[in-house]
Amino acid sequence: MDPSKALEVLSEFGPDGLSVSELIDSRTNGGLTYNDFLVLPGFIDFSADGVSLETKVSKNITLKTPFVSSPMDTVTESEMAIALALMGGIGIIHNNCTSEAQAAMVKKVKLFENGFIADPIVLSADHTIKDVLEIKRRLGFGGFPITDNGKIGGKLIGIVSMRDILFNKNYDTKLREVMSTDLVTANSGVSLSEANSILKKSKKGKLPIVDHDFNLVSLLSLSDLMKNLDYPLASKNPVTKQLLVGAAIGTRMADYDRLAKLVEVGVDLIILDSSQGNSVYQIEMIKHIKSTYGDKVDVVAGNVVCREQAANLIMAGADGLRIGMGSGSICITQEVMAVGRPQGTAVHQVSKYARMFGVPTIADGGVGNIGHIAKALCLGASTVMMGGLLAGTTETPGDYFYLEGKRMKKYRGMGSLDAMNQSEKTSTDDSGSQARYFSESDKIKVAQGVTGSVSDKGSVKSFIGYLTTGLQHSLQDMGIKSVSELYPAVESGKVRFEQRSPSAQLEGGVHGLNSYEKKLYSTA
Ligand code: GDP
Ligand code: 5GP
Repeated sequence: MDPSKALEVLSEFGPDGLSVSELIDSRTNGGLTYNDFLVLPGFIDFSADGVSLETKVSKNITLKTPFVSSPMDTVTESEMAIALALMGGIGIIHNNCTSEAQAAMVKKVKLFENGFIADPIVLSADHTIKDVLEIKRRLGFGGFPITDNGKIGGKLIGIVSMRDILFNKNYDTKLREVMSTDLVTANSGVSLSEANSILKKSKKGKLPIVDHDFNLVSLLSLSDLMKNLDYPLASKNPVTKQLLVGAAIGTRMADYDRLAKLVEVGVDLIILDSSQGNSVYQIEMIKHIKSTYGDKVDVVAGNVVCREQAANLIMAGADGLRIGMGSGSICITQEVMAVGRPQGTAVHQVSKYARMFGVPTIADGGVGNIGHIAKALCLGASTVMMGGLLAGTTETPGDYFYLEGKRMKKYRGMGSLDAMNQSEKTSTDDSGSQARYFSESDKIKVAQGVTGSVSDKGSVKSFIGYLTTGLQHSLQDMGIKSVSELYPAVESGKVRFEQRSPSAQLEGGVHGLNSYEKKLYSTA
């Protein structure tokens, strides 16, 4: 046949593969997981590094990468949240701790990277070296402006940095004796770029910003300048330049107080952490958040796996939904409770519906590789939440240990007995993690998760870099230029799918080798 007729003949065949609804319908008797299907390749006329991963985690919060970390006490505290925000995602600080501790973690993220630090830690000349070291230990930075009254707004009289106190072993020495008084400052009203160039010229680490009476107004830090250059995708508030951060809460009485503390320190996203979100308590909490703090935070409700659950939460005003029940790697909910849903089906059914109301969804749990992330986005999720995939990175809480010669970190379900017992010990109120899986009236704690260990994965910053590049290549293979174009292309039938039989799954993995080494990425 004439080769120039190839396209014409093709149209006689009709589209190859399955549309998304054919894919989902083909599994109505089974439920779909990420491993049950593949995406068919599309046409490439663009480069992978131009693929945009920009997406929404909730109605009002847009991210440059679709990565969210789980609110789990072996995954997300300040360090993880900072790293993830720098890489364009968002971390959700867990609530298996007192509300004060959780708020302090949120605050640490908010203070991490700013254009101008509007609320810097300020000391007085009567503070001592011991005070400086204590703050450095607690918050991680060690340079402080000193004012006559020890507060922001007071007259600037000096600045103390680690260099000023390094060789002084008398920790009771007052700062007036060691502080630098040879100050380089800028006047308030200075633009960020002007202030940056003064800071660069002065070769100092900090630039105090003062008003016409030399009262301290704010502070600029050199390390922030460097970070701004290093992290072009960072998730930041466009005005304050602070990193974005989320926090998990429950729906008990004590959580109303926890919420207030989190909002006070500037949390951007609240996640209502429940394994079954379709409850009167969540509806009340969503309404409370929207009416009290609606202009300050977005609220993601869940978890849900079917449209009926989603409907109630959308009606109550949820800005996003979290999808998944029993698909997490540490989770035994489906086994113990008999409830849940295969994650592929859950993500599609809920996302398709939620999209009609402009409510973004987070595919939560069961994400084990880049392919799973790409498939979750194909099925309609706007972002993915990861616990196990990020566990074992340097930025997760906890220490490394060796098991059979391998460097490991602990990773545990928040519904494991281990985590629930910790919650009992550390929460002074009833809003810790056990509230998610355990009612206070229960006499016996029924575990819904396990405790385990995962291998060392190095820094999450390199790991997220790997996920980002890998996902861009995945979309390129599909012939799709951006995450925002992906689901519309799926819905229109342009992106097609194929089912994957058990033998196809075997074929798609490494096979037929005597032994092999699986290294996932290398950095240039
Ligand atoms: P230092 O040299 O140890 O003081 O720390 P850096 O100047 O490198 O600052 C570390 C991070 O802490 C930066 O991202 C700052 O923006 C942030 N930060 C937030 N609040 C404060 C504050 O009150 N003082 C200082 N020094 N840094 C702050
Ligand atoms: P992973 O990414 O490890 O597959 O799953 C992480 C997700 O599992 C979390 O975001 C959370 O939704 C869920 N999860 C965390 N701990 C538990 C638990 O103990 N039991 C259950 N059922 N789910 C959990």
